[in-house]
Amino acid sequence: MKTFRDVASIRREVERHRRTGHTIGLVPTMGALHEGHLSLVRAARSGHDLVAVSIFVNPLQFGPDEDFTAYPRDESEDFERLGGAGTDIVFIPAVEDMYEAGRSTTVSVGPLAAKFEGAHRPGHFDGVCTIVAKLFNIVRPHGAFFGQKDAQQAAVLKRMVRDLDFDIEIFVCPTMREPDGLALSSRNAYLSDDDRQRATVLYRALVAGRASLLEDGDAAGAESTMNRVFAEAGVAPDYAAACDPDTFEAPSPARSVLLVVAARVGPARLIDNMLISSEELKGVTVRAAGG
Ligand code: AMP
Repeated sequence: MKTFRDVASIRREVERHRRTGHTIGLVPTMGALHEGHLSLVRAARSGHDLVAVSIFVNPLQFGPDEDFTAYPRDESEDFERLGGAGTDIVFIPAVEDMYEAGRSTTVSVGPLAAKFEGAHRPGHFDGVCTIVAKLFNIVRPHGAFFGQKDAQQAAVLKRMVRDLDFDIEIFVCPTMREPDGLALSSRNAYLSDDDRQRATVLYRALVAGRASLLEDGDAAGAESTMNRVFAEAGVAPDYAAACDPDTFEAPSPARSVLLVVAARVGPARLIDNMLISSEELKGVTVRAAGG
């Protein structure tokens, strides 16, 4: 496994591989790696000759009151895990290397990026899109791997790739979970034992919302069910909603439905989601919230 810390040297390395016809799979991360990240590395490994992982805690995607400084960082542990999962290249630039003084261009995806996470974290997706566009231009991968865990991020990035004609295939991989359903997240490290117990409320709300939607197709009913599960746990969600998995607008009949939740549990702001496919919803008429 080779490590690169500056843009010029990783560019040289990936160009060398491109010239020999190797395909490149990129897994962008912020480090503090867990099995969710490693599942993306393995997915990239299975379809590409060269697997590159970036580790960069991107200041642009954190709000002023968010956890940029506190975000967990453990380089040597990350390297060990990446080596074990079959990574070829790690790109771990410094902030000054990625954002030179005087930078002023931002990639902004519009309405899709303004809903849910975008509404609660103003500027977040601009930061995500800007760094991912830069990583795409630096690493020039053939495929890029993202987690369904951050479903809106994946949808926003797919939109960006289509709109800006990046010649890159986006792969979205399943959410890895703890045995009790909690989605793996670097931010789970912030949870005390008590908070860790309460954090299962996100998954429990999704499971209950799913059952409710499959029962009668009523999106508003599914949202009420999820909100009830949160209330019973004494956790106030930022949102608990049913939406279209591509547009994040109200769900449409005969299409898949995405349930999305976000909540602060102790010091950690956690998000999760659950996709209910159109096949599973066959025979159920989905009615949008308020419809
Ligand atoms: P992060 O380091 O949190 O920016 O995440 C890097 C990538 O890993 C993103 O594409 C995430 O969606 C993905 N990821 C994070 N948690 C999980 C998980 N539990 N299962 C699968 N992928 C995940």
